[in-house]
Amino acid sequence: DDARLAAELRDMSGASYGRYKSLQGDWDYGDFTLTVDRVQSDPFAPPSRVSVLIPADVAELPDSAWRSPVRRRATADFLARRAYRVLKGSRLRIDVGGQEVIDRASVQIEEGDLRLRLGIELPGHGRRIDGRTAEHELCDRLPDLVDALRWPELDTRAAVAFADTVEDTTALRDRLPDLGLVAFVADGSVLPRRSGVSDLPMDGEGNAVPFASPDSLRVTVRLPHRGEVRGMGVPEGITLIVGGGFHGKSTLLHALERGVYDHIPGDGRELVATRPDAVKIRAEEGRRVERTDVASFVRNLPTGADTGDFSTDNASGSTSQAANIAEALEAGSATLLVDEDTTATNLMIRDARMQALVHGDREPLTPFVDLVRPLHREHGVSTVLVMGGSGDYFDVADTVIMLDGYRPSDVTERARGLAAERTDAEFTVPAHRVVDPRSVDATARGRARLKRRDMDVLTFGEHDIDVRGLAQLVDPGQVIGVGLAMRLLAEDGLLDTGRTLAQALDALDERLASGGVTALGRGYAGDYARPRRFEVAAALNRLRTLRVAR
Ligand code: ADP
Ligand code: MG
Repeated sequence: DDARLAAELRDMSGASYGRYKSLQGDWDYGDFTLTVDRVQSDPFAPPSRVSVLIPADVAELPDSAWRSPVRRRATADFLARRAYRVLKGSRLRIDVGGQEVIDRASVQIEEGDLRLRLGIELPGHGRRIDGRTAEHELCDRLPDLVDALRWPELDTRAAVAFADTVEDTTALRDRLPDLGLVAFVADGSVLPRRSGVSDLPMDGEGNAVPFASPDSLRVTVRLPHRGEVRGMGVPEGITLIVGGGFHGKSTLLHALERGVYDHIPGDGRELVATRPDAVKIRAEEGRRVERTDVASFVRNLPTGADTGDFSTDNASGSTSQAANIAEALEAGSATLLVDEDTTATNLMIRDARMQALVHGDREPLTPFVDLVRPLHREHGVSTVLVMGGSGDYFDVADTVIMLDGYRPSDVTERARGLAAERTDAEFTVPAHRVVDPRSVDATARGRARLKRRDMDVLTFGEHDIDVRGLAQLVDPGQVIGVGLAMRLLAEDGLLDTGRTLAQALDALDERLASGGVTALGRGYAGDYARPRRFEVAAALNRLRTLRVAR
């Protein structure tokens, strides 16, 4: 069959580009099967899509590389990275992750079979087929790729070690609830990144200060492969991170944000783990809000709007942040991560002098500092908060960590000595909403449309969703994954029959747990990766056509 394909491509050479369409279908290479799924219409269109199935008896992956879902995801990721390196300089393209190990469609292991989903820019001379180059890509480079992904060319020991690392991280994360922790940062971790635009670790050569836990917060955890590791446990409750400017507060919080994901060996954050339900909260002026209950934070707006059922096309800094909290809780988060750098100050604190000047009934906002304690005591929601500019949170913090030259110390007792009495406000859990599935429509002019612009915008049908505020959306593939998940929710009846949004997200998680990320694809010709339910909910909440009932 591959000889037939080679002959076919040679024969097509010089023919009009459209003849490539005749390649669609299966090509048996003996060792593996190539399926040409979709052919681009001209050389400038998005790449064509092909898939490759390498059966288990050819792939010969050791059982230890894929026997559990976690190891399967890790090994698939390892193979994607290897494929990416092998395909450098080729017209074949494979989607691969950054520093995180996320289930993605490009490489899947199914009962030991290996399935690759690739793009290929089918070559042309103008609008004529370049058969020679196509033959080289599909008949030389593709078999070389398959060889590179199997023993003996594949370093199976490295593959197993990669899976061990990921399995240790997930084991660590799974232990957090029993330990009463919301996060753990191992000693020796490297948290800072190379730059604001690079997620690679800052190099150790005298630059990065490795993480070292303070005695009083030190926890030892036994992991399946690495054995005992020591590090800082961030306890449940209210944890405040303080310290002077530039001493590493935000860097620590960013690491916690990313700790909901697993990291590749060498990243420096392999043993930073955060509860999977952690959501970064920030202000996001200008976002839309649809019938969200923000009454615990906002009352008596000058407009007279009912803040228990609040909608706006243009939220303020504080109302957007209030909505972000309410929606995170609605989606099931019990761990909030907040950084002063990206919050609305008036929603966070109000000092005595401001209270004296602007009286209670004039100020619609109840600051978070008055709500954070009832959120934990009564609703089990923990908060980790960076705040270097005000001591107000000393009054409510259970744990205070100070960073000094990137080194953490436990200053809880000292902060307590400076604390004042504070009366808590009342927090009422936001009402659950039911989404009208008809308001979630991915089709534009009758055709499903899903696109992304970098990590900034998800185009969903006719609408652009601004996803820049979603700090824990970390992979371009996840942006498309979010769109696919929204489509699935709307089109597969997951939002129907009065299911609340939270219940619909549960149903989505179930599908993803049993079917893996490809449960989202359903004929989608392109790359995508698995999003979290929180980012799916967040994107849905930012869809400007969203309609909900309550
Ligand atoms: P803060 O939020 O306290 O103002 P940041 O977390 O933004 O401080 O960090 C300030 C700078 O210090 C950043 O450029 C960051 O990369 C760097 N940095 C943070 N942690 C470390 C560390 N452990 N070692 C070396 N540099 C670090
Ligand atoms: Mg900061």
